[in-house]
Amino acid sequence: MITVAKTAGFCFGVNRGVEIVYNLVDEGNKVCTLGPIIHNPQVVNDLAERGVRIINSPKEAKPDETLVIRSHGVRPEVYDYIKNVGINFKDATCPFVKKIHNIVKRESSKGKTVLIAGNRDHPEVDGIKGYCEQDAYVFSTLEELKTLLKNHKNFVKSALILVAQTTFNSILWRKCVNFVNKLCTNVKIFDTICNATSVRQKEAVSLANNSDLLIVVGGKCSSNTRKLFDLCSARCKSMLIETVNELHDCVLTPLPLKIGITAGASTPACIIEEVHEIMSKKINESAGSSGEMSFAELFEQSGQQAVYKVGKKVKGVVTAISKNEVQVDIGGKQAGVIPVSEISADSSVKAEDVLKKGDEVDLIVTKVSDQDGIVTLSKKRYDAEKGYDMILEAMDQDKVLNGTITDSVRGGVLAVTCGVKVFIPISQLSDHRIEDTTEFVGKNVDFKIIDVTPSKRRAVASVRKLLNELKQVEVEKLWDEIKEGDVRTGTVKSITNYGVFVDLGGVDGMIHITELSWVKVKHPSDIVSVGDTVEVTVKDLDRENHRISLSYRKAEDDPWRIFTDKYSVGQVLDVKVFAIKQFGAFVGIMPGVDGLIHISQISDKRIDKISDVLSVGDVVKAQITDIDYDAKRVSLSMKTLLENSANEEQQKNLESVENIEGVEINRDAIAQ
Ligand code: SF4
Repeated sequence: MITVAKTAGFCFGVNRGVEIVYNLVDEGNKVCTLGPIIHNPQVVNDLAERGVRIINSPKEAKPDETLVIRSHGVRPEVYDYIKNVGINFKDATCPFVKKIHNIVKRESSKGKTVLIAGNRDHPEVDGIKGYCEQDAYVFSTLEELKTLLKNHKNFVKSALILVAQTTFNSILWRKCVNFVNKLCTNVKIFDTICNATSVRQKEAVSLANNSDLLIVVGGKCSSNTRKLFDLCSARCKSMLIETVNELHDCVLTPLPLKIGITAGASTPACIIEEVHEIMSKKINESAGSSGEMSFAELFEQSGQQAVYKVGKKVKGVVTAISKNEVQVDIGGKQAGVIPVSEISADSSVKAEDVLKKGDEVDLIVTKVSDQDGIVTLSKKRYDAEKGYDMILEAMDQDKVLNGTITDSVRGGVLAVTCGVKVFIPISQLSDHRIEDTTEFVGKNVDFKIIDVTPSKRRAVASVRKLLNELKQVEVEKLWDEIKEGDVRTGTVKSITNYGVFVDLGGVDGMIHITELSWVKVKHPSDIVSVGDTVEVTVKDLDRENHRISLSYRKAEDDPWRIFTDKYSVGQVLDVKVFAIKQFGAFVGIMPGVDGLIHISQISDKRIDKISDVLSVGDVVKAQITDIDYDAKRVSLSMKTLLENSANEEQQKNLESVENIEGVEINRDAIAQ
């Protein structure tokens, strides 16, 4: 069966350009084109035979020629020159390309930097750059885009626009857009990929998914044709040809059952038709070439059952499960057998784990024995083929896959997902360094596909990429939500002499040593250890530099609060002298609260040196004379207590004298 893609061949823009040239020639004009009108040698040769010249610069145009500007478009300077010199010209620039010129001109005139996803050597991209009034940067891969943004850190905040070459790969475009959106805060995105291109690419992918062979017809220099080929060859056996001549000598054995044909935007319909014809002929010849019929063909001819060829996809119903094989009914007289090794890519999986009698399963024929009528089948291969498509889709759409790690191999591990084994390099196995991969065997992990080699059907996955992306989401969420005064729980990540770093969930905050406790701390490790879960208060946020200052001190533990709740001016305390200065003695009242007994408040007699009266370590009684909460100062006095006690003594003496009858009291004399 041969299917020709509906979208194969000339797109609107190319068709318009080619028609303009043919019409000019038919009308008897001398014509030259600025570069080949399309990337198709057959059309270009045909036009050359009709006298159409290809020139590289408008300066080469002859006065009697009409110059045709092709669908790719040109820089504005080219129009200026043509008009100034007075060259006759026809503009075949595709309207979709013109639209990009207008976008970049308008946006860049507002001061925005232009990022162009495309091939920097392509004339369409060169033309677009010509309309940019600000700097324009071209990238052709996600890696190039990442490097560009890394080298221009200011792009994160600058006003940017992102446009694409009309034929840019739509899947890659989506990835680039996602990346830019995540990183740049002031970017406007214009999806300028031509609809004709994306529709053709989508149809080609769907055709490739349902074909055994896909023939892509088009110029080998044409970027859109090459992109079609890349997309198709990742999904099924594909050929890129320019003309039918390349098919004449090609031997296709066995001849594929389902053949698809698509073509690039520059491929004329007549070439597509020729390809279709020659392939139909090949199929007919192949059918009539063999005189002898195989067992399967004889059966088919007798109308008794379907033909089973190696590679054919069939459905079967499980009839019996034994130690070495699973028997399936595939609907004919031939017996279907799945060897146990062909059940799953994960060799630890047993047949009875995944199949039971009566189950309908999708299988691929791996061997047909005409003699004994046994068809050997593989579930593993069917799953792998289906899974491979799912893997390609997961990579294209940046989806998360889940798989079980089955083997530890050199340089990493193998994980089974969608029935396919994917390789996870050791460096991609985690977001931290891994020494021994064997501990991962048997574990179920989520990952993303980061690379696929279509020709070898190999896929490389990364757990680290996924973890980093999840972390980034968490980080952004945390920065969105966090505010000063928040109380959060974190894990102590590291300790330095000046403080402690706490992981708040992807973002680190710092507790300065002075914020660890209300009392003086010698070293942060006296308070916390690495790995501790701590409750912290957000003190300060520096969103620009992504810095968070934290405090481990609790308001209710504030010793000044406790002190002022418990004590007031006038109260007498036992305090311990911890330092003696010329002007007074410092005393400890309670942890975190110290006080000062001024030299004048130490004794009721004059003292020259405090050390004559007090020593460090002495515990003395003192009365609170002042509390300055804001300045965190407490003044105390020993003298007031001495005066009080002297007064009390005097009072006692008076009372004892009064008790003696007949004695006249001279109070003043006593007082002295
Ligand atoms: S692919 Fe699209 S943009 Fe390019 S010439 Fe064709 S129609 Fe125009």
